[in-house]
This record gives sequence, structure tokens and C-alpha cells, in this order.
Amino acid sequence: MPSTKFKVMCSLFNWMQKSKSSAKKRSKFRKFLDIFCKPSDYFSAIRLILPSLDRERGSYGLKESVLATCLIDALGISRESNDAIRLVNWRKGGAKTGASAGNFSQVAAEVLQLRQGTTSGELTIKELNDILDRLASSENRAEKTSVLSELIQKTNAQEMKWIVMIILKDLKLGTSEKSIFHEFHPDAEDLFNVTCDLKLVCEKLRDRSQRHKRQDIEVGKPVRPQLALRVGNAAGAWKKLHGKEVVVECKFDGDRIQIHKNGEDIHFFSRNFLDHPEYGHAMSKIIKKNVVTDRCILDGEMLVWDTSTNRFAEFGSNQEIAKAAKEGLENDRQLCYVAFDILYVGDTSVIHQSLKERHELLQKVVKPIKGCLEILVPNGSPNFHRPSGEPCWSLIAYSVDDVERFFKETIDNRDEGIVLKDLASKWEPSDRSIKWLKLKPEYIRAGSDLDVLIIGGYYGSGRHGGEVAQFLVGLAERPTTNAYPRRFISFCRVGTGLSDEELDAVVTKLKPYFRKYEYPKKAAPSFYQVTNNSKERPDVWIDSPEKSIILSINSDIRTIRSEVFAAPYSLRFPRIDRVRYDKPWHECLDVQSFIELVHSSNGT
Ligand code: ATP
Repeated sequence: MPSTKFKVMCSLFNWMQKSKSSAKKRSKFRKFLDIFCKPSDYFSAIRLILPSLDRERGSYGLKESVLATCLIDALGISRESNDAIRLVNWRKGGAKTGASAGNFSQVAAEVLQLRQGTTSGELTIKELNDILDRLASSENRAEKTSVLSELIQKTNAQEMKWIVMIILKDLKLGTSEKSIFHEFHPDAEDLFNVTCDLKLVCEKLRDRSQRHKRQDIEVGKPVRPQLALRVGNAAGAWKKLHGKEVVVECKFDGDRIQIHKNGEDIHFFSRNFLDHPEYGHAMSKIIKKNVVTDRCILDGEMLVWDTSTNRFAEFGSNQEIAKAAKEGLENDRQLCYVAFDILYVGDTSVIHQSLKERHELLQKVVKPIKGCLEILVPNGSPNFHRPSGEPCWSLIAYSVDDVERFFKETIDNRDEGIVLKDLASKWEPSDRSIKWLKLKPEYIRAGSDLDVLIIGGYYGSGRHGGEVAQFLVGLAERPTTNAYPRRFISFCRVGTGLSDEELDAVVTKLKPYFRKYEYPKKAAPSFYQVTNNSKERPDVWIDSPEKSIILSINSDIRTIRSEVFAAPYSLRFPRIDRVRYDKPWHECLDVQSFIELVHSSNGT
């Protein structure tokens, strides 16, 4: 059988997308494997159908907005043309875009339809993967554009639409990764969970009738992490773990990282199984010295420790600090790895041992260094009080009150929440059952509500496609006494909290004052202070602040230092509490008052 044609896969995708029932989708996929795909093509096919699990190919560096510009150039159309504007403004809709607003690949398909033929280019899936490899490894936009233009020449509009979805890593087939794995081979999911290696799965499990012996984890191959189930409150969590010996731990807010040590060879695998060598500059030496076994796998969280405040820095600075370490820059901040579990020691996997036993191993194997390499094992009594500067991050709970108290302490300390774990439990790859339960505050008032002014709007996607669904809000520049503010400083983007009706009412009131952000022109109205960051730029500006509306917003208590917005801090997980039609625009909170609020809640 010759190599499978991509057009055959496109028919499969179309069928699967159209079929309503999961059983039908699966049987189409089965038929494809049995009749149209030879076993040596399995990997080529599966990596196209599950693109987000493919580790062989690096990242394309193409999110919708860059992809739009590259496609415009690859198609050779003017950036000012209607089609180019439709692609760039894919969220907005408008007369032509109609129902596809908010769906990039659909907008791209409509644009491509007019420019590409309907005859298939007869590309095989192997050839397509080779071209996609080149797309991922090309270093600049010009090269990416030239690869896309080659693809456009070798495919028709229908095929190109699916390729766009593969690049964006979401095929919207309405079927789960579990079903695809299961249909492929009954042991595929298990093998993938312990190797995160799609190629290996496709090569080892070619024969569906041959069962595969359960494989253990290995040093050097990332394992799909065990996850936590969310519970609503401490009592609920306690009930679920009834009768068990329970440890409660602080939920750290960093990056989940598995450290694989094999002698001198050290890897830092993230949750999506990518290796992060950038952590090596700061951490490898320490791991070599302070992890006193030659081979092991640690599971934990990579964070940033601030030596001047003696606490963890806010979420989001890991990459910056890793870069500073590489460049040898002096810094108050340093990477800190908190190991909360151990999965492999010496030459054996230890995931089948109890958490209690694994904690003992962790203590034997890792020599902690304050603010740099920490281990998370129970170190507090249930009656603990957090002595200042010496937080208790883990303790054994004997009653629901212990859990409540610990939860409250961690929240007061501005941590993300807590995780409850059954001390007798095994570590299970990819499991999200009741072994680990997480408890997070819904959201906590930032001292008081923050009354901010709407200064821009973003079009929504999906259900909200074509309409403004999120707002850019601003803080006022503090005016001189008795004057109204004259400038507003961009502060954060907020979308959740309002019902559809409330959102509609705000958008309808503001619509007459929307001024479109015209691509490719860039300027914001002069009364707004903004950044050049493209993540901030709204689709419409409110062209007169005195016509705008105040929103009361709330957030998780933590603020984050902002590079995206013009104000020095922004909010994490902001949420609209209510629309303040009763408050005039000039009563918007000013930046200085906000900064004072942040400092007082930080205790600085
Ligand atoms: P969330 O957005 O709540 O972090 P999530 O989907 O990223 O959710 P969950 O599995 O729900 O991840 O929660 C577990 C995550 O919490 C882990 O992936 C890890 O990054 C983080 N975490 C922080 N502290 C701990 C801890 N002590 N034990 C386990 N996981 C922890």
C-alpha cells in the first residue's frame, strides 16, 4: 500500500466532525486505520490527529495573529485588502465574515476558498509531516511564510483549512484523546502516560491484537503528571478522604516540573512534556550536588524565591529569572524548586509505594537549601501558628478544623490554595481522582472593590464572536485637587463576572463610542496611556472617557507586576463584580491609590 494521502485523512476529519455520536467517530477512525493507513504510517497519521501530544516537532511559533500575517504574505495578497483585514480581525466578524467570526480556521478557510482550487495536491501524510517539520524549525517569519506558501501550492482550500487547525493544535473533532488512543490500541494511553512519546506508542503498538506488558516509568522520559481534583470546601474534601491519613500541603503557584537526573544528565520536563534546559544554568549544579543519588525523578514546582522579602515571588517570573541566571546577573530573586514527590530512585520506580514512604525517600535523597531547593514533607503540627518568616507548608491533618485552619493560613499568606493528599496512595500518571484534592478560594476581595473605567473592548470568540466580550479597563492618573482626571492608564483585561444580558447592556450603551483599532494603523487615543504590548491592544477604543462606564472589579488577592499593561501592577484572575451605572466616569480609582492599596495588603 502506498503512503496514505492527506486527502484521505481530511475525509476522515470531515466525517468525524459531522458524526454526532462518539461511537460513530471511533468506528470511522478504526476503518481509516484498517483500510487506509498502513502500519508504517501510523505515527504520521496520529501526530496529525493529536497534534498537541506530538513532542517530536518543536513549537511552530504561530498563534493566530502571526499565522494571519504569514498567510496573508504566503497568499501574496495586499495587507490592506479586505481578505487580509478579515484574517487579522478574525475575532470581529463584520459583513463578510458572518458566522465564522471568532473561529480562525473557518475565516482562513473562507479566504483560502477564493484563492485556492478544489483539486487535491495529492500530498501524502509523510510529505505533509516533513513540510510541517520545516515550518517548525524555520527561524523567522519570512521562512515560515515561504513554507506556508509551498503548502498552499500543494493543497486545496479544504486541506489547507485542516492544516491550519493542525498548526493551531486543535482539530475540534469532538472526540477525546482517550477515545483515539483506545481505538488505536487498548494499551496506547497507558504507554503514552509513562513515556509521553507518541512515536514510540505508534511503533510499539502496531498490532492491536497483541497486548503490551504494562511499562514502568524511566529516567529520561517525562511521565504524565498526577493531577488534583477540585473540591468546593474543606468539609467536602474531608468527607471524600474519610478515614484516610491525610497530609495538607500549600498549593504553590509556579510551573509543574519533573526533574530527571541521570548522573550528569539533567532534564526539566514541564507539564506538556517539553524539556526546559533554561532552568539548567541555575539548577543543574545544585541538583547534581544536593540530590544524593545518581538516578532519580523528582516531581515538584519551579518557583522564584525573593531573598529580600523571604517569600516566593508572584507567578510569572520564572523565565525572566532563568535568563538572568544564564547571563550571570546579580539578583534578589532566584529560582527555587520545591520537590513534593519522588517517582524514581536508583534503578527502580517508586510510584507504587505509598506517599508516606515516598516522603521518607525524598528526605533521604534531597538535601534542601533554603530558598533554592526545598522539599515538601509534613513539618508542622495541627496546632501550628505560622511563625513569621518560617511558613509551615505541609502538615498532617487530624480533623476538618485542621484543614480549615491551614487553608485560612495559606490564604492569609497569599498562597494559591491547598492540596490534600491521601498518605497511603500511589502516584498514578495522569490520574485526577480523589488521591489529591485541591481547594482554592473562589476569589477574595482585594481589600475593597476596585472601580475602574472601561477604555477599550476585545471581540470574543466562539459564542461571543463578532461582539465585544471583554474589556480593557484603566485607572485614572491622579488629578490635581478638584479637577477631573485627564488621562487613564491601562490596567487589565476583564471578561468574566457578568451575565450575557448584563454584558449586552454595557456593550449596547458603549457602542456609539467605539473607535475601531484600525489595522495596520496603531495609535491609541492620546488620553490613554498604554504599552506597545500586542497582548494589551484592544479591538476598539472608547473614544471619549466621559461617556464610558465604571466597573467594580474583584480579583484573587494577588496582584502581578505588569509588562502587558501601562499600570505597574495588574490583577490575576480579575472578575467583574458589578456595573456601576451609578458612578460617574471621573470617580474611577487612581493609580496612586491603587499602589497604596497593594502595598498595604502586602504589608510593605
Ligand atoms: P490549577 O490551575 O488549579 O493549578 P491545574 O489544572 O493546572 O490547576 P491541577 O492538577 O488541578 O492543575 O492542580 C495540581 C497542580 O498544582 C500541579 O500541576 C502543580 O503544578 C500545582 N501544585 C502546587 N503545589 C502543589 C502540591 N503541593 N502538590 C501537588 N501539586 C501542586
